Amino acid sequence: MATSEQVLDTFTNDLRAAIAGEVYTPADAEYDAKAHGFQQVWKHTAPFLVDPRDENDVAAAVRLATAHGLPVSPLGHNHGYYGPITEGVLIRTIPLASVTVDPEAGTAVVGAGTTWGEVAQAAAVHGFTPSSGQDPSVGVVGFLLGGGLGAYTRTYGYGADHVRSMRVVLADGSIVEASDTENTELFWALRGGNSGFGCVVSVTIELLNLPAVQAETRYYAADDIPVMFRAWARWIQDLPASFNPLGGVEPMPDEENGGETMTPVLMLRIVHVGDEAEFEDVLATFPTDAEPMFVERGEAQDQPVEEPFPVREGAVFLRELPEAAVDTIIDALGADSLFVAGAIQVLGGATEAPDATATAVAARDARYAFYVATMGEVAFDPAAPVAFQKVADALAPWASAEVIPNFNGGLNRMATLTSPHAGDKAERLAAVRAAVDPTGTFARQTGVDVRSR
Ligand SMILES: Cc1cc2nc3c(=O)[nH]c(=O)nc-3n(C[C@H](O)[C@H](O)[C@H](O)COP(=O)(O)OP(=O)(O)OC[C@H]3O[C@@H](n4cnc5c(N)ncnc54)[C@H](O)[C@@H]3O)c2cc1C
Repeated sequence: MATSEQVLDTFTNDLRAAIAGEVYTPADAEYDAKAHGFQQVWKHTAPFLVDPRDENDVAAAVRLATAHGLPVSPLGHNHGYYGPITEGVLIRTIPLASVTVDPEAGTAVVGAGTTWGEVAQAAAVHGFTPSSGQDPSVGVVGFLLGGGLGAYTRTYGYGADHVRSMRVVLADGSIVEASDTENTELFWALRGGNSGFGCVVSVTIELLNLPAVQAETRYYAADDIPVMFRAWARWIQDLPASFNPLGGVEPMPDEENGGETMTPVLMLRIVHVGDEAEFEDVLATFPTDAEPMFVERGEAQDQPVEEPFPVREGAVFLRELPEAAVDTIIDALGADSLFVAGAIQVLGGATEAPDATATAVAARDARYAFYVATMGEVAFDPAAPVAFQKVADALAPWASAEVIPNFNGGLNRMATLTSPHAGDKAERLAAVRAAVDPTGTFARQTGVDVRSR
């Protein structure tokens, strides 16, 4: 009888024979560097790692894994896994990275494993901007599968709303196109329905042709947080959809001691797409309940995260933001908070798509996204999910039943909270998964909380 080592060797050899790319196992020196990315909290240890040469390699590896009853986990840039992949085949998609912009059509074909930074660079050459998030190191496919929230989302909608088609390797090894005309139910699911349908090998996206953009960020001292946060939260309620406000508490180094300690400050940013005069007119009505410490002009996004660090985030998407909800948020972010930062991003506008059932994007009823982050040692503190649960419970009267998967962070998963998709949408997604992946090849990614699906 073959030992388990012999079985592993046989499968590794079969994989190597089936694909033109490379196969690695944890015994290989290259494995660790290839199996990891942003998240540093744990390591993936799947017994087989595939570096595909092209989509045919992905198809061959998936077909073989399914035939052997092994799970397959596509890996992008590792921002979105919430536990280690310890079983089956890890398909590293970075070798498939590519961007081809069609300036006439205003679209780009993007290979899996490409980052938003790479797409932004290629699009900028032709004067376009992608519908991306804040961080250029985030993977395009993972972001789009999970909805995709960025600086201009209120004006233009979620990233998933700008997907024209996706090319996907299904569990049986077939390669299919999903679009408005082909495999339409799968296409619905892939836009915001999260992972577990197949391995996406490329995606065609619409690029944004942004008119002028203006941005201003005002920073306020800790003592002014309650009064100014409340005033801002009233002010944002009726702004036109061309305005994309974001406000929250974040740490800032203390100047007195050379940055050895950090003090919370209030950051209130407003990004406008369109006419500068309209921006100035609206800005003239900005609440003056406190004086800002300083003001920055022009930055629509935060600086990218340079170094990976342990982080656990939590989010509640809100239908309304009455004063009682704002007070709950101020309390949660106040002195001695376990959350190093927390913010409200204003949604509504284009996020309330005319036909909310056109894609699987979650929480279409939400007009505000509230999210918090714990970092460093605190990310591991069991008190953090308890604190988050308390805030989420207090916000429950105004909360959406759903949260977009990209914001269904570690704290959501550790607390007993809202799932990304609820009701009919959750059932419809389960039906699509059952149809395209009856063997559960992609739905059994080790370490990924089932509630994230
Ligand atoms: C620092 C940071 C900043 C972020 N900023 C934003 C933001 O501004 N807006 C926002 O909406 N989200 C944001 N996110 C969340 C991020 O969009 C998701 O975590 C996204 O899934 C990351 O994709 P990835 O390829 O980097 O991660 P991975 O961990 O590699 O993949 C994430 C998930 O997508 C699946 N997946 C990846 N590639 C494929 C593929 N080719 N086929 C099928 N499934 C695939 C994986 O199986 C996994 O389930 C941020 C996350 C971090 C850590």
